[in-house]
This record gives sequence, structure tokens and C-alpha cells, in this order.
Amino acid sequence: MRILPKTLKNLVSSFRKLSSVGQKTAERYAFELFEWSTQETEFLAEAVRAVKNKLTRCDACSCIKEAGASCPFCDPVTRNEEILCIVSHIKDPFLIEESRAFKGLYHVLPNLFSPFEEKDIASENIQRLLGRLEKLPVKEVILALDTTLEGDATALYFQNLLRPRGVKVTRLAYGIPIGSNIHYFDSQTLHQALSGRQVLT
Ligand SMILES: [Zn+2]
Repeated sequence: MRILPKTLKNLVSSFRKLSSVGQKTAERYAFELFEWSTQETEFLAEAVRAVKNKLTRCDACSCIKEAGASCPFCDPVTRNEEILCIVSHIKDPFLIEESRAFKGLYHVLPNLFSPFEEKDIASENIQRLLGRLEKLPVKEVILALDTTLEGDATALYFQNLLRPRGVKVTRLAYGIPIGSNIHYFDSQTLHQALSGRQVLT
């Protein structure tokens, strides 16, 4: 709709940045918001602002946490520090928690290693991981990575990096079809994938 008021156009263009939201859906959302009460729209506006103002990443594991609060995923009292799970998406730790099959630590990568695009994983992130492995009593690292070419390349990279350090390296396999992103899987599938993880040799 080219004749929309500018204020609605701004909303539509913001909604369109969300995945799976096309022009028509974005326009419908914009009109719906106009029908909301002032209180409802202010609550939404504050919730959106808080994503940037009140959330941060943990300095150790890079998981999302409330700013100023300690990271629940790094709590030495409640987490098993002998096992650490490497994921490549900020959402994955929350999905894995849903499966209730894992109580260890996490480490979130900023991206997967991509040999074709010559995209490396930031060395700061890798150095931080190695620093954690030196300080913590980690015996096993689980690679919860996509079963794509990039996921495979990243798994190989960590296998070569970590095995000489005497850490057992395993990877989710069971129940995850080839070419899949793990964040599309339900908790039951992730539970099976964690229970049936395979040692990389
Ligand atoms: Zn943390």
C-alpha cells in the first residue's frame, strides 16, 4: 500500500525485517497496532526498548542474560562444569534447556566456520573458549551444531583444536537430519540427539 500514512509505513518497514513477515502481514500488524489501547502499545514499546537496554551477553559464555544479573548458565552451584556445549545461535541454549537432557555449561559462537565464504570464527571468541577450558574442569565438549557443510567444517575445526588438549569431543547426531539447523527441532528430538551424541574420533 503506497498511500499509507508515513507513521504506518515506518511500522511496516520495521515488521518486514522480522523473518517470515512479508508485506501483507506487516501491513496487517501495523493496522492492528492502531486498534490497540495506548497502554498496550506503550507496554509493547517498552518491551522492545528493554531488549536493548536490559539484556546483555554473558562475558564468559555469550548467552543472553539480564544486564546486571549473574548468568544462570554459568552458575557453578547448579551447572555441571565438567561438560560444555558449543552452539552457534543465541537461541540454542534455551532450546537445549527445554529438552532437560543437559545441565552443563554453554559457549555461543558468533557464527559457523564457512570455508566457502572464507568466514572464520572471531579469534576473541575462540581465545575466550580456550581460556575457559583451562580454568574449568571440563572433560567433554558437545558440539551442538547444524548438520550443514558449515556445521561439519566447524565441528572438524573444534575436533582438531580440542582433542590435543585432552578433551573428549562429541557431536549431536541421532535424530538430526543432514542439512538441518538445530534451532528448528523440538525438545524431544534434542533430548534424543543429546542422549545419542557420538564421540568424534
Ligand atoms: Zn554465562
